[in-house]
Amino acid sequence: MGRERLYCTEAVVLKRTDFGEADRLLTLYTPSLGKHRAVAKGVRKLISRKAGHLELFTHSKLLLAKGRSLDIVTQAETITAFASLRADLVRTSRAYYVAELLDRLSEEGIANHPLFELLVSALTWLDSEPSLDLAVRFFELHLLDLAGYRPQLFRCVSCRAAIQPGLNYWSPADGGVLCPNCGEEHPQAQPVAVNALKVLRYLQTHSPESCRRLHLGVEVQRELENAMLRYVTFYLERNLKSIEFIRLLRQRDMRPDVEPTATPRGGDSLP
Ligand SMILES: [Zn+2]
Repeated sequence: MGRERLYCTEAVVLKRTDFGEADRLLTLYTPSLGKHRAVAKGVRKLISRKAGHLELFTHSKLLLAKGRSLDIVTQAETITAFASLRADLVRTSRAYYVAELLDRLSEEGIANHPLFELLVSALTWLDSEPSLDLAVRFFELHLLDLAGYRPQLFRCVSCRAAIQPGLNYWSPADGGVLCPNCGEEHPQAQPVAVNALKVLRYLQTHSPESCRRLHLGVEVQRELENAMLRYVTFYLERNLKSIEFIRLLRQRDMRPDVEPTATPRGGDSLP
């Protein structure tokens, strides 16, 4: 095999499926190739040296060989293992959701460096911080943005008027927020409280470093989750398997994953 058929890339493993006797089919997300499928040969054998570097959600440096249909992973070296994320089922459930959402909203072979950076930053957050739902909301909003589905949170998506503090409406089908007048004319739109809208705006326009410092009450967290879930499922036109996993874990009440404190920045005025 000639050197020209080999290439190197960073990658995060989004999905793995058993393939043949001892192989795995990997769905990778890479900086320059976007979503990319490849085969890892022999990784289900106990003696495989590559296996540990190709675990789900691992950020690795890979050497691949071009294949006739699928490329083959020939070497793998871990950059970040995200071990805490994989050791904790609640954290794992959020990482599954992040990976599944990215898999569904991206196409193979389309480079998107900022999306790769966003994925690594979301996994780092889920691996090391307590605010797991906040990490997921941040990822959803920025993923939608980078995938071309940015929700409009500042102007009414129907009449273009600036959104005022008060009760507005959330309409995934229209691509964002509706003012009270327009909202009442859209039967599929649902009310969105001013605090929830404030948080969405903050998450959409601030860095992960500032967003990590937000402390949200349980009620706001649930409202944000429902709003984003409706938005995401509208664009995907179906549900994600990982959402069911998160729900099951909640029912088992393994541990509270939100901090029972007040809404961000206080007051009712919009930023
Ligand atoms: Zn309007």
